[in-house]
Amino acid sequence: MQNPYDNAMTQLKKAGDIANIKKDTLLKLSSPDRFIQVSIPIRMDSGELKIFTGYRVQYDNSRGPYKGGIRFHPDTDLSEVKALAFWMTIKCSVVGIPLGGGKGGITVNPKELSKAELERLSRGFIQKIKPIIGPNQDIPAPDVYTTPEIMSWMADEFGNKATFTGKPIEKGGSEGRGNATAQGAFYILEKAMAKLEINKDIKIAIQGFGNAGAVFAKLVKEAGYQVVAVSDSKGGIFDNDGLDIAAIESHKKETGSVQNFAGAENITNEKLLELPVDVLALAALENQITKDNAKQVKAKLIIELANGPLTPEADEILKDKEVVVCPDVLTNAGGVTVSYFEWQQNLADEHWTEEDVNSKMKEIMEKAFDEVWETAEKYQVILRTAGFIKAIERIENELKI
Ligand code: NAD
Repeated sequence: MQNPYDNAMTQLKKAGDIANIKKDTLLKLSSPDRFIQVSIPIRMDSGELKIFTGYRVQYDNSRGPYKGGIRFHPDTDLSEVKALAFWMTIKCSVVGIPLGGGKGGITVNPKELSKAELERLSRGFIQKIKPIIGPNQDIPAPDVYTTPEIMSWMADEFGNKATFTGKPIEKGGSEGRGNATAQGAFYILEKAMAKLEINKDIKIAIQGFGNAGAVFAKLVKEAGYQVVAVSDSKGGIFDNDGLDIAAIESHKKETGSVQNFAGAENITNEKLLELPVDVLALAALENQITKDNAKQVKAKLIIELANGPLTPEADEILKDKEVVVCPDVLTNAGGVTVSYFEWQQNLADEHWTEEDVNSKMKEIMEKAFDEVWETAEKYQVILRTAGFIKAIERIENELKI
């Protein structure tokens, strides 16, 4: 697999080569402020002791405290967490919220752990990173295979709810946080469709059926769009006449996978990316579209709910094919925006309504979309590079170097 941090640095360089960004700014953003690697000893239910490896990367806090999720995944390593922390720095700046970028992760397959083991691991990780996080220093959140319940264990272990976002509502979470990433991506989809004059009669394929992908599937279906394919880590399903998303959710709950859904054809994740659809939404992991399969993409519009799903080579190929890509640093920023609202609510001891949260988030997302679009037109670049330029200009104004 391509190194995600190398991809992130290629994207940074590309923005720097085009816009008038100071060399010192690019140099500052070429390495994280700090990272730690920790060993977490966990007593398994069997009595055996196992050591897990965890990371927290604090990339840049020029615009506010470090902010970013914690991922539990067997392939998680320092390079991935560094890339994700860098993208968080750019993302918070794209949407103009006063936060910096961070990320964390543990190399683990959480599906192999009991609930009690998962709780011990979550608490053990927090014990190890406790000295460097806090409500005004570094505020973690959920990411791949971490949940509101995991956030509540972590907040409890740390002893301060404003240090974690994405918590359950009854533990100080925000209304709308569970749907925020998908809801924000939905606002971006509608803005892009309006700009590109794509009518509502579209077919969508969605890779990834977790917090981001499944909620996005529900929202687009409710809006009247046809979802013809979805997938998870085990593979995908396809029905050209449209899928019943609510029924797939129940099927996945019962069987553990979206596959073998009555009336739909089983397909691979690779095939899903190449389907003849109008919109392709990516909501799984990095490096899904690369130089090897970008030419086969048939969608006109790509919506990146996942972080880093395209490599820089794929960006170039898709640009030549005139495929428009709404980039991760803009498209999935609804999650961190509502995390920012959660943090504000916790600090002020307030609880906002879901309507309030969604309308504030919509305003931020739509404004960011317009700014990125204008920047892309100004410099004649793809939306990702435009997002980077806009974000780096804002960071540059706050850098203390
Ligand atoms: P999740 O754990 O809820 O779901 C992940 C989904 O991806 C699952 O359905 C899983 O089966 C699927 N998946 C894993 N490997 C796959 C593969 N190889 N092919 C296809 N599907 C695969 O995680 P999530 O929160 O939905 O995160 C998904 C992506 O969205 C990640 O890139 C994450 O960083 C990004 N993201 C999430 C949030 C958030 O608030 N949750 C915010 C911003 C960005």
